[in-house]
Amino acid sequence: MTLSPEDTMQFLLMLRNKGVADHVLQAMEKVPRDMFVEGHFKAHAMDDMALPIDAGQTISQPSIVAKMTEALDVGPRDKVLEIGTGSGYQAAILSQLARRVYSLERHRQLSIKARKRIEALKLRNVVITTADGSYGMPDQAPFDRIILTAAAEDPPANLLEQLRMGGIMVLPVGQSDAVQSLIKVEKTPDGLNYTELAEVRFVPLVAGVAKTDGV
Ligand code: SAH
Repeated sequence: MTLSPEDTMQFLLMLRNKGVADHVLQAMEKVPRDMFVEGHFKAHAMDDMALPIDAGQTISQPSIVAKMTEALDVGPRDKVLEIGTGSGYQAAILSQLARRVYSLERHRQLSIKARKRIEALKLRNVVITTADGSYGMPDQAPFDRIILTAAAEDPPANLLEQLRMGGIMVLPVGQSDAVQSLIKVEKTPDGLNYTELAEVRFVPLVAGVAKTDGV
């Protein structure tokens, strides 16, 4: 099953009706979500819901991906760090807006598949690495933008350190089994500014690289 242009149009209209900005819609138009899910979930790729991927993880709900992308306020010169590659969908969207995207995933099985999808889409400014994202990527820091797609109790200190002055971090915070808050953190000379964006539910940020992949 592949998506028809009508399916894509419906999808974009649905997002526009939810208030998603035009530049984000344009980025999302270029990334077919059905490529990022498998089997019978492809039939639901255009629905505004999170869907299962390998390793017990999920691809996020499209309207939340849109909201996070918009809040991150990415420009064409920005170097972005994503924690939690998952399917690679969010990274593929960010790649349309940023200069370069580094994405970290603790499940090797997921990073391998995500890398293949990114290659198939010929997105050459995305680098996916299997690693525990809570340490960030000190050798590539500082980053203009950092996005976490797994929930932490607080913004991880290592990542705040790797955010440049004036930079923006978007992440879900809170306990993994409760409703979490999606927040935006701006790093200013006067300290960190926090803005709450929405109530969300993400998988938790888990320490260490996964060992039980079978890959
Ligand atoms: N952004 C993804 C959705 C991610 S789901 C997409 O567009 O499909 C959250 C992902 O974060 C999961 O794949 C999970 O394995 C990963 N994750 C959790 N803790 C992590 C950590 N410490 N480092 C890197 N990845 C982590």
